[in-house]
Amino acid sequence: MKERENQGRLESYLERAMAIKAALTLFEWDNETLAPQKAGAYTARIQGALSAAYQELMTDSELVDLLKERESQELSEEESAIVREAWEERRELSCIPPKEYRAYQELVSESARTWADAKKKQDFDAFAPVLEKIISYQKKFAGYQARKGQRLYDVMLDHYEKGFSMERLDEFFGILKRELVPFLQKVIQSGVDIPDDFLTGNYSEEKQRELAEFLANYVGFDFDRGVLAESAHPFTTNLHNHDVRLTTHYKERVDSSLFSVIHESGHGIYELGIGDQLTLTLVGQGASMGMHESQSRFFENIIGRNEAFWIPVYGKLQELFPQQLGKVDREDFVRAVNKVQPGLIRTEADELTYSLHVMVRYELEKMLIEDNLDVRKLPEMWADKYEEYLGVRPEHPAEGVLQDIHWAQGSFGYFPSYALGSAFAAQIYQFMRKNMDFEGLLRQGEVDVIRQVLNRHIHRFGKVRDSRRLLMDMTGEDFKSQYYVEYLKEKYGKLYGVEV
Ligand code: ZN
Repeated sequence: MKERENQGRLESYLERAMAIKAALTLFEWDNETLAPQKAGAYTARIQGALSAAYQELMTDSELVDLLKERESQELSEEESAIVREAWEERRELSCIPPKEYRAYQELVSESARTWADAKKKQDFDAFAPVLEKIISYQKKFAGYQARKGQRLYDVMLDHYEKGFSMERLDEFFGILKRELVPFLQKVIQSGVDIPDDFLTGNYSEEKQRELAEFLANYVGFDFDRGVLAESAHPFTTNLHNHDVRLTTHYKERVDSSLFSVIHESGHGIYELGIGDQLTLTLVGQGASMGMHESQSRFFENIIGRNEAFWIPVYGKLQELFPQQLGKVDREDFVRAVNKVQPGLIRTEADELTYSLHVMVRYELEKMLIEDNLDVRKLPEMWADKYEEYLGVRPEHPAEGVLQDIHWAQGSFGYFPSYALGSAFAAQIYQFMRKNMDFEGLLRQGEVDVIRQVLNRHIHRFGKVRDSRRLLMDMTGEDFKSQYYVEYLKEKYGKLYGVEV
């Protein structure tokens, strides 16, 4: 009987922490969607107070007692995962001196604005001193958090993707560089030009909204437990598995919002699929950044940019946009949305060049953290790497090193998870193709069957198991970069008539 009482105590303790977290999430969502422009400074005070309350709860000695007591009992896999996450969260929050943490928070809340101004004025020098300070804090904090002998950039990588240190990522990006850079050259030199002019031109916002809701629903996003709103940059957030929120933006090019909605639906479906017994606990979220991105990119690219997917759906698109697409064949539409166009902006990249954008960032981050690269050299090195890998060179820093907000927010070690996600998705696809008639299901409009398989192997586990374990359990193999390279070469080799 005593044991049961204690169980309840740990749960209700952590439930308070989770409630604060959910409130913080709701404020973040609100800031990006509906909050009035001038709300910022005052709302930031509420958020600050809530963050402090969360930190107090997670670092309090009462939690240590509850966790130790719990550890002395026999635990299920889920319970021990919760205990593991609680220790981890506590360790990360308590090893940074509060004064330094607050000073850093203030720096970061300012730096996003400095970055935005610098970007607008195309002036990297205005941002460089702030970036230097952020990097020095990041290195200091990583030093506090490092386990014995652990390198600083590995500490940062570990925040986003467990089990993927520099050693493993060097190998991964090494393969991409060796295989994809020359392959991209072949695609460009093939001289094949795919017309895509019909993707731009008077696509009304109202109709685009109708299409977005139709597609989210079609791929399995449950509108009884989720919503779709608008924001400057599309994202997904969730309070629990009965409240998952997506956003999108409507642009002139119809495929921009169309695929971003399928992408965010992939994130949303993951969160909706987490088990009821896990939601509102410390493991009631996706396994990692990379695994999350694998699901969104699986829906966006492997399902959404698949010819078979459009067989039952393309008619709906033509019905919504008879003027623009009425005379465009389905095959031409699918070729157009898969067109390869090496560019300067990561978020607009096609599937083939996407991970090369990420590779540039990985190589530079590693040098900034491990080799003390002078930040003033960044614009030039960025441009050189783009020229080498993608054959394009930014004219000014706004379309180069200043394009992403991540570094201004102190997110170092985040970028690799974007490329890993695509690679996880390819490995999952390879496994599914072997075991089911994947394209046949898409042709029949049965995305649900595919979604259920993803749920059974990945979604329902939340953060109980890490990404490598999930891949291993599902596909019978540890992570392998080769599947991603093979997938891209097969798909784009065919599209561009290039030998692989
Ligand atoms: Zn995403």
